[in-house]
Amino acid sequence: MGFSSALQSRAAHEALIVRQDAELRLMETMKRSIQMKAKCDKEYAISLTAVAQQGLKIDRADEMQGSLISKSWRSYMDELDQQAKQFKLNAEQLEVVCDKLTHLSQDKRKARKAYQEEHAKIAARLNHLTDEVVRKKSEYQKHLEGYKALRTRFEENYIKAPSRSGRKLDDVRDKYQKACRKLHLTHNEYVLSITEAIEVEKDFRNVLLPGLLEHQQSVQESFILLWRNILQEAVQYGDLTADKYKEIQKRIDTLIGSINPTEEYGEFTEKYKTSPTTPLLFQFDETLIQDIPGKLQSSTLTVDNLTVDWLRNRLQELEGAVRDCQEKQLKMIEHVNGGSPVANGSIISNGSNTSNGIQSNKDSLCRQSKDLNALRCQEKQKQKLVDMIKCALNEVGCEELPSGCDDDLTLEQNFIENGYNNEQQISLSTNRPLYEEEWFHGVLPREEVVRLLNNDGDFLVRETIRNEESQIVLSVCWNGHKHFIVQTTSEGNFRFEGPPFASIQELIMHQYHSELPVTVKSGSILRRPVCRERWELSNDDVVLLERIGRGNFGDVYKAKLKSTKLDVAVKTCRMTLPDEQKRKFLQEGRILKQYDHPNIVKLIGICVQKQPIMIVMELVLGGSLLTYLRKNSNGLTTRQQMGMCRDAAAGMRYLESKNCIHRDLAARNCLVDLEHSVKISDFGMSREEEEYIVSDGMKQIPVKWTAPEALNFGKYTSLCDVWSYGILMWEIFSKGDTPYSGMTNSRARERIDTGYRMPTPKSTPEEMYRLMLQCWAADAESRPHFDEIYNVVDALILRLDNSH
Ligand code: ADP
Repeated sequence: MGFSSALQSRAAHEALIVRQDAELRLMETMKRSIQMKAKCDKEYAISLTAVAQQGLKIDRADEMQGSLISKSWRSYMDELDQQAKQFKLNAEQLEVVCDKLTHLSQDKRKARKAYQEEHAKIAARLNHLTDEVVRKKSEYQKHLEGYKALRTRFEENYIKAPSRSGRKLDDVRDKYQKACRKLHLTHNEYVLSITEAIEVEKDFRNVLLPGLLEHQQSVQESFILLWRNILQEAVQYGDLTADKYKEIQKRIDTLIGSINPTEEYGEFTEKYKTSPTTPLLFQFDETLIQDIPGKLQSSTLTVDNLTVDWLRNRLQELEGAVRDCQEKQLKMIEHVNGGSPVANGSIISNGSNTSNGIQSNKDSLCRQSKDLNALRCQEKQKQKLVDMIKCALNEVGCEELPSGCDDDLTLEQNFIENGYNNEQQISLSTNRPLYEEEWFHGVLPREEVVRLLNNDGDFLVRETIRNEESQIVLSVCWNGHKHFIVQTTSEGNFRFEGPPFASIQELIMHQYHSELPVTVKSGSILRRPVCRERWELSNDDVVLLERIGRGNFGDVYKAKLKSTKLDVAVKTCRMTLPDEQKRKFLQEGRILKQYDHPNIVKLIGICVQKQPIMIVMELVLGGSLLTYLRKNSNGLTTRQQMGMCRDAAAGMRYLESKNCIHRDLAARNCLVDLEHSVKISDFGMSREEEEYIVSDGMKQIPVKWTAPEALNFGKYTSLCDVWSYGILMWEIFSKGDTPYSGMTNSRARERIDTGYRMPTPKSTPEEMYRLMLQCWAADAESRPHFDEIYNVVDALILRLDNSH
């Protein structure tokens, strides 16, 4: 539908004029805004040039010679300058575009005027004719009335006149005929003017107006075309994605990309390279002791009665500092690895890098590794001092210490020394019961005691049951470890070789303060009481509540610690078991106390003050994993089963990193809490060694969980635990089935040796079964380590979570 047919009405004509006015105003607005843009771009170009100039104010001196980063920067600034020039050029082009818009607007104004005039012209003729017709019609009416009146008069005179003649009649007739002629003429004119009006109107509607409108449409459309082209030009000059900008950007990208960290300092290093610095020499200044006869020697510690205590204190301090360093290092490694294995004691990445986190992760690893190195150095430095003092003290051994002073000063010095010593001594009070003394360790087995006594003079008191009789023993570190049974006199007093005392506490205090040997033969002197470790809880602090399980050594109870009100699990050891078994029972506590991981059951303490000895652990509410799997076989989802596998792998990864071989990993030895989180437990068979060879027979071996090389050669490594982990996975996915069911232990062993492996339990994800098979590789070295296992299971879980 075009203008010619659609816009003929008067209203449409007026709307067309209004539209053109609006277009003209729009054009003005555009013009102003493009002018402003040109101005902005020019200003931006000026600022950008200033930026580039500022950026180029860099050191051109030698220091940065050969630096790629400096070179790239300079070129980048040059490119910015280019960019500024391009902006300026574009701004100038925009001004040209503005001029074009001005011309277009002027042409458009002219066209509008021409259209209005032409329209008025053709409309005027029609209007004129319309008026003519009206005028002619009213003339017609006027003449018609005149004619009618004269005709009536003529008829009246004609009837009255007797001869139908006479002057008057002639006169009337004459008038009547004239009126008749006028009427007819008017009639004809009216007819002609109507006919003409009809023709003009027809032409106006069918020819002239459509012609005018058609022309108008084509004029306006040609304006729109020009207008569009102008706009395109304007946009084009503001297009930042244009090739010229892209090229500049590409060049900048290439420049920055050419910065290569490994090449950056190449030239610089070449220029300034020097040979390694010579070490600074620290030497004892011999002149200092030139005038002092004998006692003080260069670079050698002096051990005498004046210095021995100081040295011992210093030794203790330094050993504490060494331990401190070691603990800090361990914590740091664990922190970085998130409880994952430690490769050669170094920090390894935990693989949680995201693409934009890589750098910061690398930085932090770098920093941690630096801190770790600093700690290692500190440890080494302190250890050196420890060794030096130990060596000096050992040389003197248990001989009487040389006097550090001239003879005539000895008395005074001894007095001062003794006074000093008395202040330093830990008070060994006598007015509390023996079991409350910090240095009384109850029935702590000898093996554990030996671990606590490290330096000569370290001592503690303990209890042992021999032939169903309780005996109190003083254990001392003195050229090895010595254990002295406290003798009871017939009067009920206590003694060693010296005088008897009414209480064991008094006896020990006497030995301590007098610094006399416990027995002449041993020469053992009591120097430092070793107090109970924080693990050694008081039996009276534990209130057993209800039995929750049965272990190899005795019942397991839910219990409460009186002191903290904490609910705990307590493993008890039957009193009737031989000492050897009790030692084995405590082995679990000793191993567990070093570990702290969410997937390893936590040790809270051991109770060895009296019988029954107990191990206190965190209470894991779901109990044994095996029972849990069997009881909840219907409700368990694949996701939960995989989560259990991941937890177990995390715990085992931690153990592997600590060189701990569990040797009895199985669902029955795992615990599960209410959130389905699995914790590795039952460390009764565990060993802290990289490789453990069993030589004392193979009693009570969990054959179906044990790797072939351990069964065949007694060789245990963490890779044996990996085999057991495969069986554990199988138990988890079979929801507590017995492995190799229907086969005896020896049959299962035979079949495994010939390559048989259990089929996949129902609904086990394919990848998890593949992992089980890898864990059951006949060649231990082909099995994955726990680190890898954890990562595989974790990735599978992540994939599963993401797919939901
Ligand atoms: P043992 O080491 O003597 O073989 P277990 O460690 O197997 O003893 O413990 C026997 C049972 O006691 C377990 O199967 C479990 O049901 C329960 N149990 C053991 N430790 C805990 C604990 N920390 N929290 C909850 N229940 C436990």
